[in-house]
Amino acid sequence: MSKLKDPSLLKTLCLIDGSWQAAASGRTSNVFNPANGALIGSVPNLDATEIPTVIDVSAKAQRLWAARSAKERAIVLRRWFELMLENQDDLALIMTLEQGKPLAEAKGEIAYAASFIEWYAEEAKRVYGETIPAPNANQRLTVLRQPVGVTAAITPWNFPAAMITRKAAPALAAGCSMILRPAELTPFSALALGELACRAGLPAGVLQIVTGSASQIGKQLTDSETVRKLSFTGSTEVGRLLMAQCADTIKKLSLELGGNAPFIVFDDADLDKAVEGAMASKFRNAGQTCVCANRILVQEGVHDAFVEKLAAKVKALKVGDGLEPGTDIGPMIEPKALDKVEDHINDALAQGGQLVCGGKRLGGQFFEPTVVTGVTAQMKVAREETFGALAPIFSFDREETAIAMANDTIFGLAAYFYTNDYRRVARVSEQLEYGMVGHNTGLISNEMAPFGGVKQSGLGREGSHHGITEYLELKYICSEL
Ligand code: ADP
Repeated sequence: MSKLKDPSLLKTLCLIDGSWQAAASGRTSNVFNPANGALIGSVPNLDATEIPTVIDVSAKAQRLWAARSAKERAIVLRRWFELMLENQDDLALIMTLEQGKPLAEAKGEIAYAASFIEWYAEEAKRVYGETIPAPNANQRLTVLRQPVGVTAAITPWNFPAAMITRKAAPALAAGCSMILRPAELTPFSALALGELACRAGLPAGVLQIVTGSASQIGKQLTDSETVRKLSFTGSTEVGRLLMAQCADTIKKLSLELGGNAPFIVFDDADLDKAVEGAMASKFRNAGQTCVCANRILVQEGVHDAFVEKLAAKVKALKVGDGLEPGTDIGPMIEPKALDKVEDHINDALAQGGQLVCGGKRLGGQFFEPTVVTGVTAQMKVAREETFGALAPIFSFDREETAIAMANDTIFGLAAYFYTNDYRRVARVSEQLEYGMVGHNTGLISNEMAPFGGVKQSGLGREGSHHGITEYLELKYICSEL
């Protein structure tokens, strides 16, 4: 870690009530670099019994934080945003060490993560209420928008910074407090953000970061009557479980769950642009994003040309340690992630798919980026999220077939399509059952637009002016004069 300009950003304790604390038991969990298995450090393994105190602290801090003016909250958030950019190199290095993504991608994620804080620092000042014309002359009807209260966030390892700021920034802007339980594989990025939040002047207890058993901490947070909202990003499987756990306390929920993104290339598309978009959408973060193209559907007339162009680019990808210059694809996050990619490839090949390139393990947690053609709806790649650098290619004949194939999934997060026919743009984008649609682009996410899914991909939206409403309650006041 000697390369960090500011080594004090590498925190190995939990952020509780404004101070850095170990577990009462003294127990810790180790965190390893997925590129080489080296130990990076350890974080506390809190017991479930320690969480109620954290929740009490959060409740006290929330009342004081909500009592501040929106402008005061905005100033703190703005400073947090600036500190993230000032420390972008260190934050990116910490991320690459624990998560594996290439350093340039990690830097990009820090800028992207920070953009949500900037955005919600601005939105904090625009939480407008309403006055409503009353049915009787002696009545005055008004609507306030007030913070939900104490909130909790459980975040994944694939975007160790952005998945946090997309939740924490709107929550804090709205006047909520937040208890964050980051992914066990990438806690250091979260803790570094906590340190910067403290430096930005965020009052003690407004943002607390706890590490330890996901299920134990998760249960404490979901069972609590004080915690009024849970925001979770992760698998649909765990999302379902958390939703059930939140039923007893009728907790508000935002869920960003799995996807099975179709990426449709029509005969009239600009093929080079489509290949470029497929590369960006499929292979970013070694294919480990919930909006990654999971099924590439190519119309018959351009199928062979598309595959040839795509394969040439895939073969040129450099796999390696994310800290090495020029690396395009880092290690996968853990051994079982490689097992899944391999299982999906073997299953496709056993059912008649053809391997175009890749397909092999490269030692350690590295896997060759892979292209398989002749994929059909019966194969695992068609039904499950691969979460790896495997591009499975389906062929289709007509527009209606492509739309039916695209919608044939329980998921509905992101979809992409390439065409230069404007009438088709309207038809296809309206018929895709997805929360987000990219037309002639493979990268759609930014802080200004609403990110989220339909069907079993989740509930609620993050980013945009809609994102802050997830942390606000409406209060209607009927006043008689
Ligand atoms: P991923 O495939 O992205 O790892 P998971 O849904 O397994 O998705 O994990 C997302 C986050 O949810 C991680 O921080 C993980 O530790 C946490 N998590 C996993 N199981 C539970 C659970 N039973 N209760 C609460 N959080 C959980």
